[in-house]
Amino acid sequence: MSAFVGKYADELIKTAKYIATPGKGILAADESTGTIGKRFSSINVENIESNRQALRELLFTSPGALPCLSGVILFEETLYQKTSDGKPFVEFLQENGVIPGIKVDKGVVDLAGTNGETTTQGLDSLGARCQEYYKAGARFAKWRAVLKIGATEPSELSIQENAKGLARYAIICQENGLVPIVEPEVLTDGSHDIKKCAAVTETVLSAVYKALNDHHVLLEGTLLKPNMVTPGSDSAKVAPEVIAEYTVTALRRTVPPAVPGIVFLSGGQSEEEATLNLNAMNKLDLLKPWTLTFSFGRALQQSTLKAWGGKKENVAKAQATFLVRCKANSDATLGKYIAGASGDSAASESLFVKGYSY
Ligand code: 13P
Repeated sequence: MSAFVGKYADELIKTAKYIATPGKGILAADESTGTIGKRFSSINVENIESNRQALRELLFTSPGALPCLSGVILFEETLYQKTSDGKPFVEFLQENGVIPGIKVDKGVVDLAGTNGETTTQGLDSLGARCQEYYKAGARFAKWRAVLKIGATEPSELSIQENAKGLARYAIICQENGLVPIVEPEVLTDGSHDIKKCAAVTETVLSAVYKALNDHHVLLEGTLLKPNMVTPGSDSAKVAPEVIAEYTVTALRRTVPPAVPGIVFLSGGQSEEEATLNLNAMNKLDLLKPWTLTFSFGRALQQSTLKAWGGKKENVAKAQATFLVRCKANSDATLGKYIAGASGDSAASESLFVKGYSY
């Protein structure tokens, strides 16, 4: 079961460790063209390349934001885009101490014979694509597997299939110099309680780490991107301290200390909720052998998108909004966030979408 040590081993370990620097986290700005279209339609902005570039430029060049970030996940189109001054985004990020990453999965398809469960596509030609992305400056990758909670879900088939897919993806990334972010997202949809989410998350994560070890993945050169353990979206909410306790317990039971960092997805939580939950985990007095930080998409961008509305004259205001979220989450990685410090009501709006596809 010993880990694969290829020519990139030292670099992988260094990259993963850097991304997991306390005080910093990841901006997930890797919405596919389809997904960003959904975001744009909510603010009445046309889904064309110039608008997609404008949003990403607004985020990446926000004064003061990049020191709160160690990585940004990009979609392929963005990896090759430039600022309006003609500097490639990749170079701009690198010069500011932020590592560019790339979404490499090709979305989910139904798993035949299941009740709407899915598997993630994109393994064919993944090695060749990783080589191209490495050349373009990417140093880490993301692949999202999706599991759901239901009366008989997740099924054993979907747990095993998704664990194996994540493991194949991870080792192919490592063979080509990219740190794999392993993302098994247990969706929040449903009326289950937090205990059910904890049990499913633990089962899924143990299958994932079994598969990663079976495939000789170098755990020191990976990051985990899990869901937080919460009650289902149709159940009553619980306090951040409760979420923190269940989440950290599930992770302590399943994630080896060889993994340097755990970078949470926000999964439809409001911006403020996601920050408070992350903060509570970092305050929790339990041994945590990995850094606990963020890799938020919606929970970093929602109020910024609204403030921007696609208008040039709103860029400065939107950037100030983005800075508030970046700082709040940076503080939360240190357990130093003070509730409501952002003073922004937009930050408390729920971002949950049923059966969310990214
Ligand atoms: P959310 O934080 O919006 O859930 O997205 C993060 C992500 O990258 C999901 O794959």
